[in-house]
Amino acid sequence: MHVGLFGGTFNPIHNGHLKAIEEVLKGFSLDKSYLIPSALPPHKEQRNLVDAKDRMEMIRLAVATCPALMESVTVSDVELRRKGPSYTIDTVCHFKSILPKDSRLYLILGLDAFLEIDTWKSYTDLFMLTSFIVIPRPGTVSADRFAILRSIENYLKKSISHGYNYSFAQSCYIHPDKQPVFFFDVSPIDISSTKIRKLVNQGMSIKSLVPGKVEEFIKTKGLYL
Ligand code: ATP
Ligand code: MG
Repeated sequence: MHVGLFGGTFNPIHNGHLKAIEEVLKGFSLDKSYLIPSALPPHKEQRNLVDAKDRMEMIRLAVATCPALMESVTVSDVELRRKGPSYTIDTVCHFKSILPKDSRLYLILGLDAFLEIDTWKSYTDLFMLTSFIVIPRPGTVSADRFAILRSIENYLKKSISHGYNYSFAQSCYIHPDKQPVFFFDVSPIDISSTKIRKLVNQGMSIKSLVPGKVEEFIKTKGLYL
């Protein structure tokens, strides 16, 4: 079984996240994917961070209105049930322990997040336990596919391990002992949660940026004002 793990602060979830996961699901024929909101993101300032339960609810609403995701995407509260900072290594170990032994895990993340993974707790262990699917993030590096591949390669060799090399046969970076790293060229959507929080704060519309139900929830609860 091929399982995708897509974690983030999701403060709030937006159409960039949704489109990305939809395309990755199709492109990699994943059997199942989990959207995993971080309870206490170790790397983010806590100002403007809305309650994890509200962020979780917005993800539920978004998935429920997205036919392409409804069947194979589950919203996971695993990080909300843990105390302390939400470390991805703990989440990956959790899924390893509950999924069938022959499952293959894919950690899905934007290029911006991937290029700082050497600041994450136990990141070297992560590369032993899970494959990675890196997706482009407008504003990080350039939009050019080759520039992105170069930046991933340089980063892998410099910060993770010299042993990573691109395999044209497998269309990913492979390593003799570690898990592969794929780059998946989803159509870039230039949306960020930061932009949404700013727009809401300025009283501007976020209609085309989040699903209608999420927009409604933000309004009703008076979030990000
Ligand atoms: P913020 O602006 O608060 O950092 P964000 O939009 O970056 O929010 P996160 O919750 O930080 O959202 O991101 C979760 C994951 O989704 C990260 O791996 C990030 O790179 C990825 N991601 C976020 N927005 C996009 C997008 N528009 N396209 C592709 N990947 C994205
Ligand atoms: Mg971010």
